[in-house]
Amino acid sequence: MGHFGERPLLRMARGGWATGVSALLLVTCGQRPTADDPASGNWTRYGLDDAETRNSPLTSINRNTVGGLGLVWSHDLDTDRGQEATPLVINGVIYNTTAWSKLIALDGGSGRVLWRYDPKVPGSAAANSCCDVVNRGAAYWKGRLYWGTLDGRLIAVDAKTGKRIWQVATVAPGAKNTITGAPRVVKGKVIIGNGGAEMGARGYVSAYDAMTGGLVWRFYTVPGKPGVRDGAASDAVLARLAAPTWKGDYWNSKGGFGGGTVWDAMAYDAKRDLLYIGTGNGSYWSRKIRSNGTGDNLFLSSIIALRPDTGRYVWHYQQVPGDEWDYTATQSIILADLKVKGRVRPVLMQAPKNGFFYMLDRESGKLLSATPYADVNWADGIDPASGRPRIRAEARYSETGKPFLGKPGPSGAHNWHPMAWSARTGLAYIPVQHTAGLYTSDPGFRANALGVNVPLRPATLALPDDPAARRVIRAGVTGELLAWDPARGRAAWRVQKSCLPNGGVLSTDGGLVFEGDCEGYLNAYDAATGRRLWRFDAQSAIMAPPVTWQADGRQYVTVVAGWGGSLALMLGDAVKDAAGRARLNRSRVLTFALGGRAVLPRRAEVIASPLPLPTEAADAATISLGKTLYHRTCFACHGLSASSGGPVPDLRLSPVSRDASAWQAVVSQGVLVQRGMIGFSTVYSRAEVEAIRAYVLHQAWVDAAHQ
Ligand code: CA
Repeated sequence: MGHFGERPLLRMARGGWATGVSALLLVTCGQRPTADDPASGNWTRYGLDDAETRNSPLTSINRNTVGGLGLVWSHDLDTDRGQEATPLVINGVIYNTTAWSKLIALDGGSGRVLWRYDPKVPGSAAANSCCDVVNRGAAYWKGRLYWGTLDGRLIAVDAKTGKRIWQVATVAPGAKNTITGAPRVVKGKVIIGNGGAEMGARGYVSAYDAMTGGLVWRFYTVPGKPGVRDGAASDAVLARLAAPTWKGDYWNSKGGFGGGTVWDAMAYDAKRDLLYIGTGNGSYWSRKIRSNGTGDNLFLSSIIALRPDTGRYVWHYQQVPGDEWDYTATQSIILADLKVKGRVRPVLMQAPKNGFFYMLDRESGKLLSATPYADVNWADGIDPASGRPRIRAEARYSETGKPFLGKPGPSGAHNWHPMAWSARTGLAYIPVQHTAGLYTSDPGFRANALGVNVPLRPATLALPDDPAARRVIRAGVTGELLAWDPARGRAAWRVQKSCLPNGGVLSTDGGLVFEGDCEGYLNAYDAATGRRLWRFDAQSAIMAPPVTWQADGRQYVTVVAGWGGSLALMLGDAVKDAAGRARLNRSRVLTFALGGRAVLPRRAEVIASPLPLPTEAADAATISLGKTLYHRTCFACHGLSASSGGPVPDLRLSPVSRDASAWQAVVSQGVLVQRGMIGFSTVYSRAEVEAIRAYVLHQAWVDAAHQ
């Protein structure tokens, strides 16, 4: 980047890129974009802009030049759990949240650490997290940064110094709500939701004064105890519309407190002054347990439009009435104006877990279209007049009492990994997951006070012991990068992926789509055709979405590598590579530019020396009890059938599982709580904990017998 003639903007302008020329003129004519305008080169919002398009106008790195993209620097993070964050970049400084809700500020040009903030999340908070101790990002406003912590705090710091300005608890003491999603700042208010619908949590979203941290309003997404008002912005609409759609014990711990958590997507339309939020699944999953098997259960699995100043309800659209498949409407919400049936409409689009790509009129909330973008078998389409899905009778497993192999499964056809939208190509770029899930009704379900509470028959969650059957499952756990044409309701192109999960997506006016993958590459594709133009071996699976930014005339691409999240934790052997090895997690911030020549440090592979097989053996009844208890609680982090996907220890190979007293110290007493492993002595007896050990050892034998 030494001399003038090599400046990428000029090189690109000579190459005839019309957009590059206009970007150049914009800069040179002194019409400087404001600091939060994507044309400024900053990335100041989670989804880049209020419409959450994740489409950058920067064009120095483009189809013609991307071949010269190289690493400029890398920075190793101090946590090796899942990394899901979208970094913010303001005036050349990168602000990135990591696992355990830490925030790090790095000089964008060099990777030098400017400051760090560790909110010191207690390890016990991990037990309230369904899906790893991840964090997806911060918000920026007037020199301040805002982000949420796993234990439910919202923190404001000075972006220059990292010094705390204020901190508030957004969840009640003892509540199981956790924060992993990024806040948004709208009209001087920090909007934050939370997760926890697998634990037994009631969903809500809150707005805090960005200056003071004072609570401005709160909107609950599901009703509370009948007859009790919250004193919240949601009181009137919950009483009028939502409460009549609920029955039974939904409002207490027996029923699961309803769910509908607002754990990820939001978008804002300044012209219409509407804040859009997506709500999650029902808690507990089974509508029979939650709501006597009846009712739409508003506002589960819905898009809700609110006034950002007051939290006042404007409209809602429910995608899945009476959800019982973990079909959240929390995936990326993107706003665009596009031609539908011959008329330009203000559109809200979403590709939620349930497999349909929705377009709503974002002024009225009216359904414009809903088209399957993946395999769907829970519904025979969406009725265009009523907007309701035609749910198949067999999908209602809690009513039929019969297992239902649902497509998509609970992980969804698309999850939190953000999609992007390019107005230039007219395509949405979606990291699609091919998933299925066996839904069963568990008559023996009882909610535990600790850990996940998923009311499916536990033993049905286990992987088959036969390694050939496991290989078949592993081969089916795949994905694709899908370029979806919403105006025509069809795919423009697809790139198949060999495994899951893959990364969130960035598109650019340089005609590129960037996406990291489960195999450990960051890829650049031609946005029009899907042809791969460039890739980089990141030595680590990547889930987080890349961002692009510009400082001193040079365009950069930054992504955070690192493996983890719900699929990596839970699916165990089903998400390993073809040789049966866990995917690599080397949690690092990586930054690229044209002409970058840095190389990653090579790390020696760690080869674990195999432990001798234990000699003790339990009886079949004990192993069976252990299998049930394991798949009630432990599977969510340690993986199906005691096979870890990588981010946490594989219990089959752990010395702790070989030692009965060490096992009790960890599993009952919680001596490793600071690492996220709480003690379960209040919910499981010592004998039950020992039965879980017997099952884990049995799985070690099963594994060894097949090698
Ligand atoms: Ca969920």
